Amino acid sequence: MSVTVIGLGPMGTRMAEVFLEKGHDVTVWNRTASKAEPLVTKGATLAPTAAEALAANELVVLSQTHYQAMYDSLEGAEHALEGRVLVNLSSGSPDELREAARWAESHGARLLPGGIMVPVPGIGTPVAETYIAGPEDVLERHRATLSAITATSYVGADPGLAMLYYNAGFYLFVATMAAFMQATALVASAGVSPREYAAVAAPLVRSLGEDGPMGFVKSSAEQMETGDYPGAADTVLMEAVSVGHVVESARAAGIDTSVPEAVKALFDRAVDAGHRDEGLGAIYEVIRKPSA
Ligand code: NDP
Repeated sequence: MSVTVIGLGPMGTRMAEVFLEKGHDVTVWNRTASKAEPLVTKGATLAPTAAEALAANELVVLSQTHYQAMYDSLEGAEHALEGRVLVNLSSGSPDELREAARWAESHGARLLPGGIMVPVPGIGTPVAETYIAGPEDVLERHRATLSAITATSYVGADPGLAMLYYNAGFYLFVATMAAFMQATALVASAGVSPREYAAVAAPLVRSLGEDGPMGFVKSSAEQMETGDYPGAADTVLMEAVSVGHVVESARAAGIDTSVPEAVKALFDRAVDAGHRDEGLGAIYEVIRKPSA
């Protein structure tokens, strides 16, 4: 199987390498052509122009700084887009992805935008995962080839969904890690080591995603689906007061209070908006409609 890779930053270079390592014929193109030299040594073909890179293969993987780089790279090569499948794994806003899909279709190409969830060393490993959107039948035709660099989770026809899932996944990661570090700093103020606390925190974080009484991810999703937030066991008011205690403890420990204060403000707004006696999931309503 053969593939074109456009964009040879750290990500694109590793993608091209992995395709080569797994036996694919690889054509590459990059604005700065010299970056292709190590890949050519490993067996890649350097296309002299972007149009020739497009002409070489139906499947074209792009990995660049942003979506503007795609337009800049393919300016003047639009005639070669007919029949191509562009798998763009660059970051962009949801609207940029939607606009890019329209642009590709206007030139007879199909766009599969993707948000790749691993850093460079993860490409081609079993943990590589990409949220991919666009026409599902087109993805199915190329899923096996793409699996050399990443598994693909199809998230829907709307091109913007690829970046929304990407942003959502990244936010879950950084916000959870920030919460872990905040919690570690809190107990560290009384001499507990980060390793010691990690042993306590890891099962707690894991349990949030599991079934059972601590499986808050699933139970709150049920509530968000229905808009019904029973508050028998834990009310928004109780949570708001408890987060207030976290803020006070952090202040007393002399550590940063900015994130706990922001979480407290969110719960306070939910109380003010009339959700005080509902369950934790009700803060979803305040997040969705901040001005209500
Ligand atoms: P880089 O920013 O290093 O990508 C550089 C590539 O973009 C080069 O090929 C560069 O060309 C090209 N480029 C930039 N601007 C233009 C332009 N105006 N015209 C033509 N080409 C242009 O990013 P990475 O390789 O690190 O990442 C690629 C994408 O993957 C990004 O969107 C990033 O958000 C995403 N990503 C990155 C991860 C990472 O760990 N690095 C992880 C997950 C996603 P030239 O060589 O000529 O400068």
